[in-house]
Amino acid sequence: MPKAPARPSGTPNVAAASREAFAAWVDEDPDGRVFGQILIRSASPAGYYLCHEDDARVASLELYDDPRAAREIAKLTGAGEYRPLKSSPNLRRGWELRVEDARGLAAAMDYLYPAGVVHWYLYREGRLEITDYRENAARQSGIYKRIQRLSDEGVQNAARACCEDAVCLKKTLWNVDAGTPLEMDRGNGEIPCPEPCSVFVSFARRVRLFEREKRRDLDDAGLSPSEREDLAALVEAAAGGAGGIKLAREAEFEEPLNERRLRYRKLTLLPKLRPEESPKE
Ligand code: SF4
Repeated sequence: MPKAPARPSGTPNVAAASREAFAAWVDEDPDGRVFGQILIRSASPAGYYLCHEDDARVASLELYDDPRAAREIAKLTGAGEYRPLKSSPNLRRGWELRVEDARGLAAAMDYLYPAGVVHWYLYREGRLEITDYRENAARQSGIYKRIQRLSDEGVQNAARACCEDAVCLKKTLWNVDAGTPLEMDRGNGEIPCPEPCSVFVSFARRVRLFEREKRRDLDDAGLSPSEREDLAALVEAAAGGAGGIKLAREAEFEEPLNERRLRYRKLTLLPKLRPEESPKE
């Protein structure tokens, strides 16, 4: 596995302060707050209700009253697939969780969005430490060391493909390096992302493999072997009929029909296939 970002300063003081600040932020709004895909509402006389934001008006939800239930809720998508990235917009629906107090709320949120509340708090306080891509890459070893050679353009396209709100609800705060900001829609959500995550690092490794083969192995049409492989897989899947295209699992970047891989192809392959539609330099 790639090296995961460092956990936020988990001192008891920061944990307690973030817990209280988060509960107060929820209490401030009588309609509740949305954090990621969770709608959090204050309960009377105490405690909080949590549910999927799309279930705000659904009456027959499965009820839980233990914050630890959030661990199971966060684990699988509605289709039963493992969720390697908890900030992906694929949280399952159909449940409601009641917690007793700010402590229970923070515990549940930490299962749903690990470290999200502490990061949210430190960001508001102006104390969240940001680690840019190059610094994170310098720490990688083994098969992930090669991401150190990913070009700036590769990092930019990988971030657009992997981190925008369509596939991750965190607000991307890190940059390529101190002098090279990410040029992308960083997202509108409440959960900050201070450092490339392990899913991103794994995706960056795949993009680096694409970069290397491009130089060596272009065919007469200018396509690389993996680009041809992805196009063939898409045609084959689409020709399968009305069942639609079944995408690969979220972090299976070696698969042609992975959503982030296809988003990357949209950025890098479509301009080759339709040069007349590409923005002029
Ligand atoms: S690095 Fe990208 S994909 Fe990973 S948590 Fe941050 S914004 Fe999301």
